[in-house]
Amino acid sequence: MASPKHTQHRLLARGDASRVELCDCSSVHLTVGAVTLRLGPRLFEDLHTTISEARSKVVFANGQRPGEGETALC
Ligand SMILES: [Zn+2]
Repeated sequence: MASPKHTQHRLLARGDASRVELCDCSSVHLTVGAVTLRLGPRLFEDLHTTISEARSKVVFANGQRPGEGETALC
């Protein structure tokens, strides 16, 4: 197998302000706005678990839960 060049990314998912790509080195690139995190498989899984747990608990000050109403940031 050829060495990874970190140039071939396969788009896995895309949102309004974010996207997730799989790099040829097996890291996941998580881009939110102008910031990109390069995560190995364990870190990606840990981030997914942590965000999912937080999402299940969060209720915003106006009573909204994630996924309800506007998606714009502050
Ligand atoms: Zn890479």
